[in-house]
Amino acid sequence: MKKKRKIPLRMCVSCREMQDKRSLVRIVKAPEGDIRVDTTGKAKGRGAYLCRSMECIEQAEKRKALNRAFNVDIPDSIYEELRELAEKNIRK
Ligand SMILES: [Zn+2]
Repeated sequence: MKKKRKIPLRMCVSCREMQDKRSLVRIVKAPEGDIRVDTTGKAKGRGAYLCRSMECIEQAEKRKALNRAFNVDIPDSIYEELRELAEKNIRK
């Protein structure tokens, strides 16, 4: 019997849809409290996920979805980094 590979699903904090983990971008709050965009998906700490789409990222920024997910203020630089990622993704 063949084992089916489970695709790990995560919820986007913006649109709240479950997505394949690889199509999302992970944002992580490190144990020291730093917020980072985790492009490796392996950084230590509590993670939250967002779709790699401009729409979700802008919605998250407007609604402060990440601030709520982590209970801290998210620096603008994080959203800038996310927008850059989304742009790259669109151009691909
Ligand atoms: Zn989304």
